Amino acid sequence: MNAASDRVTLDVIHTARIPMPHDYVFRPAGRPLSRWWSGSRVGPDALDGPCLSFVIRHPSAGVILVDTGLHPDAHRSLADFGRPMRLVFRDLEPVGPPFDQQLRALGIEPEAVERVVMTHLHVDHTGAMRLLPNARFTCTRAEWTAAHRRLAAAKGYVAHHLPGAHRVQLIDPAVDGTRHGAFTHTVDLLGDGSIRLISTPGHTPGHLSVLVRTGEHGDVLLVGDAAYTRRSIDEDVLPLITDDDRASRTSMREIREHIASAPRMLVVPTHDPSAWHELRSASG
Ligand SMILES: [Zn+2]
Repeated sequence: MNAASDRVTLDVIHTARIPMPHDYVFRPAGRPLSRWWSGSRVGPDALDGPCLSFVIRHPSAGVILVDTGLHPDAHRSLADFGRPMRLVFRDLEPVGPPFDQQLRALGIEPEAVERVVMTHLHVDHTGAMRLLPNARFTCTRAEWTAAHRRLAAAKGYVAHHLPGAHRVQLIDPAVDGTRHGAFTHTVDLLGDGSIRLISTPGHTPGHLSVLVRTGEHGDVLLVGDAAYTRRSIDEDVLPLITDDDRASRTSMREIREHIASAPRMLVVPTHDPSAWHELRSASG
């Protein structure tokens, strides 16, 4: 580990809770219609899924966020999620103060944030992009394209959450990326190996995971929604819905193989009920 990564820190902001039906997270066998039925009901075995944003502090690059939280409007009504996503997320419950206040609690003014990596552009990750007026956002070209397709709203993308294209840095890991460990396409964001963006499509067309080399926790793999839980990775279980099952399986296999080569690495899927607990939380 070099001196710079010794001083990279990673905090987590818990923005909301969402009960996730067991059969939504872990796709059951059976016919599509019965799967839909069981996967859309919140039963007693539902998982208490968090929605998370991450705060990286780098000694020379400063603050870099991974994903954002909710806009304060979403604390009053989920109208901010637009239709039809307010129905899909009807059981979502905001947690703690609004995102900008949670950032300030970490000593970060929202206006001072200059860089945000977006794992993907689904509504539960994009709400607070509007609270960061001076930020540039990094995501894949494939994801940006998917978020602006016709009928994108039905796939979880909400146009009014997204910034203008001039504030977005588009990357294309399949073209510009290099191999890293088990991962086929990765981009070294700062050129010092401390933050690696990893192409993990499947949940969405241009999904990224983020490997952060920290001082306190060693390597931390922020999986985003490439897998909903650690168990999904370990047991190779897809969720009820993906954008592309084959790509999802390939991404989960690469993650699993990378974990095999670094078994002590902390692995944090965004919606895993407990994986994030080892990180320092904004609310202490
Ligand atoms: Zn998602």
